Amino acid sequence: MNQIKAISLNLLIPLFIASLFAIILYNAQKIPEILFDIVAYLFYGLSLLVIWVSWHFNRNRFIFVIIPLILIYLGFEYFSAAKATLLFLYASMLYPFHLMVFLVFKERGLFSFWGILKIVFVVVEIALVLYLIYYPKESIEAYLNVKLFAANFYPLKDLSVAIGIFVLFIMLALVLFGRYLMYATSFFMLLLTFYAGLYFLKTPNATEVAFLAFATIIFVLLIRESYRLAFYDELTSLPGRRAMIEDMAKLGRKYSLAMCDIDFFKKFNDTYGHDTGDEVLKMVAAKFSGVSGGGKAYRYGGEEFVILFASKDTSESFAHVDALRQEISVTPFSVRNKNNTKKIFINISAGVTQNTQKDKDPFAVMKRADNALYKAKKAGRNQVIKG
Ligand code: GH3
Ligand code: MG
Ligand code: MG
Repeated sequence: MNQIKAISLNLLIPLFIASLFAIILYNAQKIPEILFDIVAYLFYGLSLLVIWVSWHFNRNRFIFVIIPLILIYLGFEYFSAAKATLLFLYASMLYPFHLMVFLVFKERGLFSFWGILKIVFVVVEIALVLYLIYYPKESIEAYLNVKLFAANFYPLKDLSVAIGIFVLFIMLALVLFGRYLMYATSFFMLLLTFYAGLYFLKTPNATEVAFLAFATIIFVLLIRESYRLAFYDELTSLPGRRAMIEDMAKLGRKYSLAMCDIDFFKKFNDTYGHDTGDEVLKMVAAKFSGVSGGGKAYRYGGEEFVILFASKDTSESFAHVDALRQEISVTPFSVRNKNNTKKIFINISAGVTQNTQKDKDPFAVMKRADNALYKAKKAGRNQVIKG
């Protein structure tokens, strides 16, 4: 259920942007032509902004994605009709793969070994397309013109449509398996937007608007990424301490919170190694993110978690925290130990308390929850105590 919610939310944002631009285009007659004259400039401007921000955030995949798109656009604008047609042919077949490659490859810095390899890859792609444009190869073109479908997607070739469907399928699989969800959903929409831009080549302004939508989707993705970097914990994907402090400022008159800590985690690390410890931390964090009763879980630090319950008192939230503790304690976590996998069990202890008139801020409440947590540890762990 959580997964479906996450997928829909992540898909909705780029879908919304693409639809917005589609609506603008659909109503083009009602919009003064002069506004469309600046669309191309907006595309260039936003693309440069994307490059600049990507560079600063070390999110180089966007640089590799947007530069070929700018070149494609420039080619459509300034090449002769014959050359532009060839560019259209090759770009429509190559660019979907290009998007897929840069979705899947990890960020590794621009001037590392992998970064240089990516640069070489892009340069080879560009050189290859330019070569095929300046020295047309009719045999290759004939081969790419192969008829695959009964329907006609002119000006797109059947093969290019088939490639698009294939890549969309792979991206969809990545979305469903929750790999790079925020990116995979956006890239899925990027590819659709790219195809829309090519398919409506003959419609006035359509390609420009589609490419602007494309750059906008990336730009919004970058903003979301910067938000994620600031407020979410990298290892567990839970909101982190900064997010917790922000959310605490929004709490109402009545709330409760839980301080939770994994039992004997140092021993676990010593036995299975720090990497396995990280894996288990992720799995435990996933349980925390599904806490019932409207609680919101944060990774407070290390193997400590805080859960905030807006407008709930101690006994109400106690029930939800204890249910979580119970669930974690009976969940077998698979850890790889040398050659075999082993099922292990993890316990947590927690202290729960609500705010009172005397607490001057949520940190005072946290202190009390922490004392209750300490008592839970003293009393033998794997339990929740009310503070
Ligand atoms: P208890 O809380 O039950 O008293 O025992 P503990 O062993 O969990 O005690 P403590 O809180 O002192 O130790 C926390 C340990 O958690 C220390 C550290 O090795 C481990 N830890 C903290 N953060 C991480 C992390 O990000 N990854 C891994 N693998 N281990 C972590
Ligand atoms: Mg601890
Ligand atoms: Mg601990």
